[in-house]
Amino acid sequence: MPELPEVELARRDLYRWTVTGESLSFTTVDAKTVRGKLSTNPKDALIDGVSRLSEDVNGCRAVNVLRAGKRLGWQFDGPVSLLVHLGMSGKWVSRDTSELSHVRVRVQVGTSTLSFIDPRRFGCLVPVPTAALGEWLNRGLGPDALEHPMDGPSLSRACNSRGAIKTVLLDQKRLAGVGNIQAAEALWRAGVRPGRAASSLTEFEWAALAAAIPEQLRWTLDVEKDGEVVYVSEWGSRNPFAVYGQEGEPCPRCTAPISRAVHSGRSSFWCPDCQG
Ligand SMILES: [Zn+2]
Repeated sequence: MPELPEVELARRDLYRWTVTGESLSFTTVDAKTVRGKLSTNPKDALIDGVSRLSEDVNGCRAVNVLRAGKRLGWQFDGPVSLLVHLGMSGKWVSRDTSELSHVRVRVQVGTSTLSFIDPRRFGCLVPVPTAALGEWLNRGLGPDALEHPMDGPSLSRACNSRGAIKTVLLDQKRLAGVGNIQAAEALWRAGVRPGRAASSLTEFEWAALAAAIPEQLRWTLDVEKDGEVVYVSEWGSRNPFAVYGQEGEPCPRCTAPISRAVHSGRSSFWCPDCQG
């Protein structure tokens, strides 16, 4: 599932592929992918989504690709731009379309064809006024966990809650971009158990966690940066993470078997020996 690192890699790809001075031509394969707001629900599709893309965006040139948390803002030189959310399984690829399934939108740029593929259909494109793209992109989000990392005291203030620290880290209003995998890994780096109440962390632990979050994001970017991103949930993927999805496997730091439990409906993974 895409979190900040995968969305940042998608941003870099879209920038490289489309901010070329060439005009873009969109073909909507699945009309329900074009939504009136950022939503994981195909029921929020725009009734006129297909014509919105063909009339408002076709022929425009991309001038930038922005990112805030797990959202992308694809800025065009016309009055309408696009917000993009990858949802649970979405990705942009530049491959021969004959070998792809679950294609939702295609974009022609010069001689190359980009495809938005999304088997689970939680991803979406949202046409918004270009002048308001930045406002739409950042609406309701806390500071970006990679671009605007917090120090210990500010993270402690942002995460002021009696809830489990891992669940609190997933709240995009507090900080933007961290999902279930990055939260598990950052907590492992910081030596903090995911089920601990956020309010119980010490000053030292907040400082360790504040440092661990951007470190973990940069580490993931580095591991995944070459070639096409493969999500851990995809068949045949390899799992590069220390604790996420590693129940029963030895902790890379102390070799104790990794534990798993469910917090707020999401799986948590941690080392029972070196996360206190
Ligand atoms: Zn350990």
